[in-house]
Amino acid sequence: MKRRNFIRKTGIAGAALSTVPSLFSKPIINEMSITNKYPVAVATWNFQNATKMAGSILEQGGSALDAVEKGVMVEEANLKNTTVGNGGAPDRDGNVTLDACIMSPDGNAGSVVYLKEIEHPVSVARKVMEETPHVMLAGEGALQFAIQQGFKKKNLLTKESERAWKEWLEHKEYKPIINIENHDTIGMLCLDEKGDIAGACTTSGLSYKINGRVGDSPIIGAGLFLDNKVGGAVGTGMGEAIMKSVGSFLIVELMRQGKTPQEACEEAVDRCVNQNQNYKDFQVAYIAMNKQGEIGSYCIHKGFSYARFHDGESTNNQSDSYLDS
Ligand code: ASP
Repeated sequence: MKRRNFIRKTGIAGAALSTVPSLFSKPIINEMSITNKYPVAVATWNFQNATKMAGSILEQGGSALDAVEKGVMVEEANLKNTTVGNGGAPDRDGNVTLDACIMSPDGNAGSVVYLKEIEHPVSVARKVMEETPHVMLAGEGALQFAIQQGFKKKNLLTKESERAWKEWLEHKEYKPIINIENHDTIGMLCLDEKGDIAGACTTSGLSYKINGRVGDSPIIGAGLFLDNKVGGAVGTGMGEAIMKSVGSFLIVELMRQGKTPQEACEEAVDRCVNQNQNYKDFQVAYIAMNKQGEIGSYCIHKGFSYARFHDGESTNNQSDSYLDS
C-alpha cells in the first residue's frame, strides 16, 4: 500500500504526525494536505462513468493526461450519447463531424476539428500534440493523419441518429435546445497525485449545424484551457458565445489574478450574457478547478451539473445559474 493511502486508510495522521521530529514533519504534513485534495477528476454534465474511469486511473497513480484521455473516451464510445463521438448527431447534410482537444500539464496542446469516421478524436488530438510540431489538424488532413497513426475508420452515424436527423429534415428548424437531453459535450479536468493538471474536451458539436461549422470545444482557450501553475477550465453549450469571449482562457487568467474557481466561472458567464442580447436562448456552462483541487461551476440556465470523482466517491453536482430557469 502506498504511504499516502496507508495514512488515509489508517487515519493515524494528526496525532502521530504531531510527534515526529521537526526535521521530518514539514514534508509529511505537506503530503497530508495533498492527500485530502488529489487526485480528483471533474467533467461537464453527469458523466460519472467517465469521471469514474479517470478516477480509477488516477487512484492507481496514473497521470492526469492519461486519465482525461481515457475518461472522455468512455463518452466517445457511448452510443446513447448523441452529442459526443460515435452516435453523435450529424450536421444538416448527414455528416458526423467531431471536434476534440487535449492539454497536458507542460502546457502542450493538440486538437482536431471536423474529423469524420474516427471514434476517438481525443486520442487523435493527443497524437497531434505528441507526434507533430502542430496544435490543430482539420478535416481530410486530420483523417489522413489519424489513419497513418493506426486509427481505424468507422461509420459513426447510428440508425437512431440517422432517424432523428431525417425527422429534423422535415422541419429544418435550427435552434439550440437548452440542456439537450441533459448530456452534451464532455470537458474534463484531472489533478493527479503529483498535483499536475490536464484537460480534454470532445464533442460532435451542435446537432444539425451547417456543414463545416466548428465550435469552441477543440479551440484551446475557448472550450478548454489550463495552466499547471494555476488550474484549468472547460466549457459546454453554445460554442459561438464561448469562442467570442475565449471563456476557458478568461477563467484561468481570472484565477491567476486571485479569483476562486467559482468567481471566475461567474465572471465568464456574465461576459457571455453581456456580449449576447439573445443569451436567454442558449446555454453556456463552465467548470473550473484550481491547483488546490477546488472546483467552481456556473451556467446561464438552470439544469447544468458536473460529475466529480474524489477519494473513491463519485458525485453529480448541480451548478448555480445566472437565470432561475
Ligand atoms: N460547445 C459545443 C459546440 O458548440 C456544443 C455543446 O457543448 O453543447 O460545439
